[in-house]
Amino acid sequence: MFNLILFGPPGAGKGTQSEKLLAKYSLVHISTGDLLRAERNAGTELGNKANEFISRGELVPDEVVIGMVRNFMKERSDKAGFIFDGFPRTIPQAQALDQLLTEFNAQINCVLGLEVDEDELVKRLLLRGETSGRVDDQNEDTIRNRFQEYQNKTLPIQEHYSSQNKYHGVEGVGEIDDIFASLCSHIDKLI
Ligand code: ADP
Repeated sequence: MFNLILFGPPGAGKGTQSEKLLAKYSLVHISTGDLLRAERNAGTELGNKANEFISRGELVPDEVVIGMVRNFMKERSDKAGFIFDGFPRTIPQAQALDQLLTEFNAQINCVLGLEVDEDELVKRLLLRGETSGRVDDQNEDTIRNRFQEYQNKTLPIQEHYSSQNKYHGVEGVGEIDDIFASLCSHIDKLI
C-alpha cells in the first residue's frame, strides 16, 4: 500500500490537487470534509451533530471523525492505497491513523504540505464561498476560527511526521500544474 497525506490549511488547494493526483495514481481519495458534508446532506444523526461544529468553524470531535474514517477504510482494504485530505487534523487522529494502518500492514509513506500564506487563503475561501454554497466559507469570522483551529490543533501534526522524516513542504501558490508537478516529484521518488 502507498498512503499519502495531503496536508495544509483550509483553502490551500488540497481538494484541487487530490483530484489531479487521483487521475494519475490508482489511490482512493478520502476527504473527511466531503464525508461529513455527505452525512449532513443525508440528514444522518452523525451529519447533524457534525454540522454544528462545521458551521462554527470548529473541528468535529475526534471520535466521530476517526470512526467514520475507520469504516471507510475497512470497506476498501483491498485498495492500493489512500490519499488523505483533511485528515488527520489533530494528534489523536494521527495516532489513530497510524494504528489503523498497522491493521492493514501499512503505514503513512509520505506527507506533503501545501504552503500558502493566510491573506491568500482568506481571499481564496471567500471566493469559493460565492460559488460553493459552503456556509463556512462565507463568513470571515468563521474562516479565521478555522485558521485558529489549524494553528492550535493541526499544525503539531507536521512535527509528528517531520520527526519520522515523512514531511515535505511544497509551495502552494502559483500555477496549479506547477504545484501538481512538485507533488508528483516527491511521490515518484517513493512509489
Ligand atoms: P477546509 O480544509 O477548507 O476547512 P474541509 O472540507 O476539509 O475544508 O473541512 C470542513 C470542516 O469539516 C472543517 O472546518 C471541520 O469543521 C470539519 N472537518 C473536516 N475534517 C475534519 C477532521 N479530520 N477532524 C475534525 N473536523 C473535521
